[in-house]
Amino acid sequence: MGCSLAFYLARQGRSVIVIDRGRIGQGATAACAGGIRAQFSTEVNIRMGMEAKRVLSRFTDETGHTADFRQVGYLFLLTTDDERASFAEAVRLQRRLGVDDVVELSPSDARALVPGLETGDLAGATFCPSDGLAGPNEVTYGFANAARRRGAVILEDTPLDAFLTQGDRVTGVVTAHGQIMSDDTVICAGPWSAAVGARLGLALPIAPSRRQVFVSEPFSGIERRNPMTIDFHTSFYFHPEGDGVLFGMSDPSTPPGEDTTVDWSFLERITAVAQRRWPPLLDARVKTAWAGLYEMTPDYQPLIGPLRPGLWVAAGFSGHGFMMAPAIGRWLAGWMVDGAPPNDLAAFAPNRFVTGALQPEHNVV
Ligand SMILES: Cc1cc2nc3c(=O)[nH]c(=O)nc-3n(C[C@H](O)[C@H](O)[C@H](O)COP(=O)(O)OP(=O)(O)OC[C@H]3O[C@@H](n4cnc5c(N)ncnc54)[C@H](O)[C@@H]3O)c2cc1C
Repeated sequence: MGCSLAFYLARQGRSVIVIDRGRIGQGATAACAGGIRAQFSTEVNIRMGMEAKRVLSRFTDETGHTADFRQVGYLFLLTTDDERASFAEAVRLQRRLGVDDVVELSPSDARALVPGLETGDLAGATFCPSDGLAGPNEVTYGFANAARRRGAVILEDTPLDAFLTQGDRVTGVVTAHGQIMSDDTVICAGPWSAAVGARLGLALPIAPSRRQVFVSEPFSGIERRNPMTIDFHTSFYFHPEGDGVLFGMSDPSTPPGEDTTVDWSFLERITAVAQRRWPPLLDARVKTAWAGLYEMTPDYQPLIGPLRPGLWVAAGFSGHGFMMAPAIGRWLAGWMVDGAPPNDLAAFAPNRFVTGALQPEHNVV
């Protein structure tokens, strides 16, 4: 997020400094599964996904770097009639907004797309072939290097220690290596954004939550062109990764917190779901696993916008920040430079939990 915003601000002629307490791209982004989609339930997120696909399709022209964007599609598998009805409504909205290639599928159509899928109990599916996967590392460094070429400075190993203030206004930050004065400061510290905001006494409703990912050795049970496949009811998902398969699932019993140790016993629970939904996975040998942090908000929508004079936030992406960064970086840079958001971003208003104007996202994994 920080590197995308830096790129778009630098492109508009603003002088930008990104600070990171470690290395860029090593936070939540390093754990990311790389999914990019426009199949959301809210208008703002559908537009965001469309914009992300547009930027990533032209990423080399825009930044001079590859995004490794593979449009293999996203396939949602729907078990209950309620799920099918709400995804059907979302498909109608997506098509109305210009996602021309999204369709509802029958269970047997879904089975034809992914060999080995068990679809006997499904109520339906949706598929958007232009959704897909991109490289988190490639996109982060693409934005960062393109921002640097436009004059942005990226300071790594530079933790924020405190904010500088004058009355209510934030005038900069104090880091381990000195002070930086700035007209605008943006908190985009991923799962640690609440901890950063707390240094100013802010209570940002963003909680870190562990998610685990497993990757197999080379595996012939999945084809390179197979879509990102999501069993929406259980949140079990998988997609081709190199010569193998990457898979994961949310665990609702995980308490909020910054623990990123891998719980190998969770693999058994995923395997039990896979046995019912996609049995070929049982023949894959797991090569590696990692855990990263989602940055959860109560309505699964991010916090984007001003917090107080001189201070902004772009965080709380609730597991979708990689695909949101290309659009949000551009929209927020436009807002900061022109003084008005280029799109209706009311759903992301940082104070919405006080005003009660919520537009929750339902297509969350
Ligand atoms: C397992 C997993 C799978 C995911 N899959 C997807 C997916 O398929 N698609 C998708 O769109 N999203 C996915 N996500 C979510 C996505 O990875 C995040 O939403 C996104 O990477 C957030 O980016 P960010 O730049 O906001 O945060 P980060 O990448 O966490 O960057 C924040 C940076 O802030 C720095 N920082 C923190 N505190 C300080 C401080 N005090 N001073 C200075 N710097 C600080 C950190 O070092 C870090 O580099 C997934 C997440 C996980 C964990």
